[in-house]
Order: sequence, then structure tokens, then C-alpha cells
Amino acid sequence: MPELARAVTSTPHSGIRNMAEIARQIPNVIRLEVGDPDFVTPTHIIEAAASAALAGYTGYPPSAGYESLRELIAEKVTRRNEVATKADEVVVTTGAGGGLFTTLLALLNPGDEVLVSDPVWPGYPAQIHLQNGVLKRFPLDRRRGFALDPDALEGAIGPRTRILIINSPCNPTGAVYAEGELRRVIEIAERHDLWVISDEAYDEIILDGHGISLAALGGRDRIITVFSFSKTYAMTGWRIGYVVASAELASTIGKMQEPVVASASSLSQKGAEAALQGPQDVVGEMVTSYRERLDLAMELLDTEGIGYVRPRGAFYLMVDISSAGDSLEFAKSLLREERVATVPGSAFGPGAEGMVRVSLASSRENLELGLRALSKCLRRQTAVKR
Ligand code: PLP
Repeated sequence: MPELARAVTSTPHSGIRNMAEIARQIPNVIRLEVGDPDFVTPTHIIEAAASAALAGYTGYPPSAGYESLRELIAEKVTRRNEVATKADEVVVTTGAGGGLFTTLLALLNPGDEVLVSDPVWPGYPAQIHLQNGVLKRFPLDRRRGFALDPDALEGAIGPRTRILIINSPCNPTGAVYAEGELRRVIEIAERHDLWVISDEAYDEIILDGHGISLAALGGRDRIITVFSFSKTYAMTGWRIGYVVASAELASTIGKMQEPVVASASSLSQKGAEAALQGPQDVVGEMVTSYRERLDLAMELLDTEGIGYVRPRGAFYLMVDISSAGDSLEFAKSLLREERVATVPGSAFGPGAEGMVRVSLASSRENLELGLRALSKCLRRQTAVKR
């Protein structure tokens, strides 16, 4: 048999998927590892997609997306993200994941360095590796809730660094970067002539304070912002997101979808139109529910004397299990002994070692049961270690 491409065989398996695969083989597991909302997509969105199918929206859409959806997205980004945007600066993509991949295709030459934070969502390292880029990490400031440290970021830039990926609100840390830090990111990108991909897949999942879109602060010609319908409207399975960039780059990214996916799905695009045009209180209700679950989780962990990093956005909670030792070993024990799935911090990079990620997009009941079991397992493992 001929061999597969080296970039594929040498790509490490995502630590999130690893745990999910083990969890699937064990009956009655409490699933706190997945970043998939436990809500079903709001009914009016599903109805709009179903009506669109019956109305004949079953052919190929334009590669950059329906003009009607791009107009609605441009209006959303202008109003809610405060980044004045026109429809020709928008490309509708197959989720934020697809948008990131085509954006990297448009920007990355083999051997170019791409700078990401540590910890980071494992999707970036995998995509960079698959496209023969070189991953470089800069540390987040763990003592300050994994805040962005612009000096540490700048210190990691080398002569081959061409692209910087910023993710706020951040998965897995829940950090929402402050305006001053983001302004410095733009200055640094300008000084070192970098592209900046700003992953804002969780732009509307703000648990505390408010989020800022990087491009709202300037540097528009070098910033590409990636958004998603997945988390905001509980539409993870619809595979729909969008990229905002200069009209020229947006057109390139749109063209690059043609030979691979052609475009995002026609029915998902029609659902996305309904999501943007319909009532927005569905988003507020889901965010309120994540906030309530966070309060529940923090109260429980406080009572048990377990440390955590308080998230300000997205829907994850990083829990300190360092007294038990290695995060992968702990996550495996928790799964085997208590049937609770989490993600070991090591899946996100060395900067999250000693922690596990718990998803707040799980039911209150599961969250409570899961965290109690985590506490029990942590006590046991800590005692063994001593
Ligand atoms: N970016 C981040 C930070 C994510 O956490 C995820 C999914 O978990 C994605 C991108 C991909 O999202 P989508 O479902 O829109 O492809």
C-alpha cells in the first residue's frame, strides 16, 4: 500500500476527540468534555431551513455565500461587533473551522511560523501542521486568569513568523482580552508585519463584562476575523460560520472554497439568515443559562476547596487538579473510576498542565454530578500522591 501524506500521519490526534472516543465506549458517561451546547437550535431557525428546502434552495449557492446572507452578516458585524463592514468583505464558510482553514490556505507558505497562545484550542496546531506551517506558542499569564501578555507575545516572534492567531473569548481559558492588550497586539502586528487571524467564534458568549472585536480597534488591512453560528445559536451541526477580511482577501478566500466545499450548505445559510433576522433573546437566554451553570460550578468548587480560573466568556471552566499530578492521567482516572469525561489541560498545550477543562454547555444536573465526582477523584488521587 502506498503511504499517506506525512503531514497527515504526523498530526497528533486532538486531546478532546481522544477523550470523546474513550467516553463513547463506556456506558452512562457524564460528558463534560465537549464544546457542544446541550440546547437544540431555536425552532424558528429550523423552520426557516425546512421552508427554504421546500422552496427550492437545493442548488449550489455562490462560493462566498448568498448575497442576502452576506448583507445580513455585514450589518451584524457593523452593529454588534462595531466593525463597519460591507457584504463584499464577508465570506460564508463551513463553520469557523472551515473559515480558519481556508484563511490559512490563503496566507501560509510551507515553513512559515504561526504564533498561537499557550494554552490554545487544538484545532489551530492541527490545521497549521496539515498545511506545513510551523507552530510557535507564546505563554498566557496564568496568574491573571490567562490574560494576554503582549510582551510575551512579542518575545516569541522570530524572522519567520508571518501569522498570529488571537482567540477572544478564549477556548479553553474563558479569558476575554482587555482593550489595552488588544491595542498592543495591533501595534506589534504592524511592527513585525504580521497577518492577524482573530478567532471570535464565541463573540456573543460573554459571561462577565463585555467583549471587543479586535478589528474595531484598527489594523483592518491585516486582520481577518473568523466568526461562527455554532455556539451563538446552538448550530454546531449546521457547519456554518463566516470570515470578515478586506474585499480582496475575502474574494480570494471565497474562490478557495470552490474546489473543495464549493460553498457552505444552502439550507444552513437560509437557517443562518433566520438566526440573524429573528429574535435575539434566544441568545441571551442561552448565555444566562451558561452564567447560572458557572455560578453553580464555582459555588461547588469553592465549597470543596478546589481552584479554578474564572471564565469571562465562552463556556468552559479550567479546574485546578495539580495536586493529583499529570492532567491526562487524572482525566483518564476520572473517566474510568467515576465515568466523567473532561479534557486534560495538556491537550491545549503545556501552559494548561495541572488543569482539566469542564464544559458549561452541559446540563446543570450533569455539571453538578460531574463536579462532585471530580472532587471525590481529586481527593483520592491527591492522597495517593502524598
Ligand atoms: N474556534 C474555536 C476557538 C473553537 O472552540 C471552535 C469549536 O469548538 C471553532 C473555532 C470551530 O467552530 P465551528 O463549529 O464554527 O467550526
